[in-house]
Amino acid sequence: MHLILLITVSMPLATAEPDGPRGDRPNILFIYTDDHSAAAVGCYGSVINQTPHMDRIAAGGMRFDNAFCTNGICAPCRAVVLTGTHSHVNGLMDNGDVFDGSQPTFPQLLQQSGYETALIGKWHLKTDPTGFDHWAVLPGQGDYYNPDFITPEGTVRDQGYVTDLVTDRSINWLEGEWDREQPFLLMCQHKAPHRSWMPGPDHLDLYADVDIPEPPTLFDDYATRASAAHDQEMEIDRHMYLHYDLKIEPTEQERAELAGPDRWIKGMRERLTPEQLAAWDAAFRDRNDAFREANLQGRDLVRWKYQRYIKNYLRCIASVDDNVGRLLDWLDEQGLAENTIVVYSSDQGFFLGEHGWYDKRFMYEPSLRTPLLVRWPGTVAAGSTEDALVQNLDLAQTFLDAAGVESPDRMQGASLRPLLEGRNQGPWRDSIYYEYFEEGIHNVQPHRGVRTDRWKLIEYPGRGEWELFDMHEDPHEVNNLAKVAEHAETRRQLEAELRRLQVVYGVPDGS
Ligand code: CA
Repeated sequence: MHLILLITVSMPLATAEPDGPRGDRPNILFIYTDDHSAAAVGCYGSVINQTPHMDRIAAGGMRFDNAFCTNGICAPCRAVVLTGTHSHVNGLMDNGDVFDGSQPTFPQLLQQSGYETALIGKWHLKTDPTGFDHWAVLPGQGDYYNPDFITPEGTVRDQGYVTDLVTDRSINWLEGEWDREQPFLLMCQHKAPHRSWMPGPDHLDLYADVDIPEPPTLFDDYATRASAAHDQEMEIDRHMYLHYDLKIEPTEQERAELAGPDRWIKGMRERLTPEQLAAWDAAFRDRNDAFREANLQGRDLVRWKYQRYIKNYLRCIASVDDNVGRLLDWLDEQGLAENTIVVYSSDQGFFLGEHGWYDKRFMYEPSLRTPLLVRWPGTVAAGSTEDALVQNLDLAQTFLDAAGVESPDRMQGASLRPLLEGRNQGPWRDSIYYEYFEEGIHNVQPHRGVRTDRWKLIEYPGRGEWELFDMHEDPHEVNNLAKVAEHAETRRQLEAELRRLQVVYGVPDGS
């Protein structure tokens, strides 16, 4: 079996001084999406879509093949990225919590060191952003069409599609406000491809006449899994809403009886301009009529829902990819590509029908794993890959290291710079720690766990249940080995490692 090191591995801290004048320090373009599974990125081997512009980042830099989040929902991931600390340290445990913007964040530290800083797009942390010279953020989850942006001067509504608009605002800031005397940090943070997966006008008909491959676990029965997998409410079959999620326009009678998130379809449609609504209906109406005519049942209905869901999800990503291309082109045209670090990542992954699910939260691979692509000419070899275990926890220290700024001691990750430089970096972590706290929507039990390169142990402390997966033998995580005698010693070692990580990361006793 895989040996687990039961020693504390000390991570190198960034202590270097800036390499030269401030203007020589690299610009940082951080493109961050919401719920973008690595399984829907071309360079990660996607069998369901293509992302030529994201692949450009990988081709010119490094693809991290074992990148993970620490707490798989939207707002907590953002707080982890900003602070370089786990959720139990930065205080933002779930989507209901409010971010304390007075704690140290890497944008604040970069700003103090002379970077010009901007944040555009999804924020989701409730308090006003701190550490940015310029910011314009979507309220909450934001809207796909004609979204509002909160700015220091008030709230304004932009007309158009959100992914285009976030990019427009990003380029406008670079062209109009960045003074080019100092390096920039631009956090370009998309709403897409978050629920409710509304494609933009350029991609309404993409995939119209093709079938997207289904994942092998679309009809998972959760045998051997802990009770949490049975109790969740995120199944494509039973918990996906026909109108809000699946874009079936309600009939008069259905409109009078809308329940749950389906009630939001009215506001969704009203937000579109007449022209946008006409294009939307032209794309969906005939297909919706055909769906009603077919009167699908059972697995045929699940399969139809999967196709409708995944196509809209991938259409949202197609727009992100186009807009990634716009930013890369802009850097090329301005002669800035050579001195700009470009990072593409997502807050966490997403279930694209695996286990029959949508959404995220669970420590299972589709949700835990994130795309992480880094292009840094002169530092990162083009077309390189790295399989070390890395997390969103590491990004703050990586950016600070790149800028020659020392990381505060409270930060809990490690700079990825040695990995990026392809140096023999010495010891790296052998395991990652995961924690999830939110009880509410989608009914996922709080849990925590440890993952090594081969094994994953998940604890559901509220229920005294465990799951153990051998990801080499069981990559789809359907065979829970927690109670299998043959693996008792592996489980014991992993439990010891989990407890060790809880001490290392300062998890409060009794939590
Ligand atoms: Ca998310």
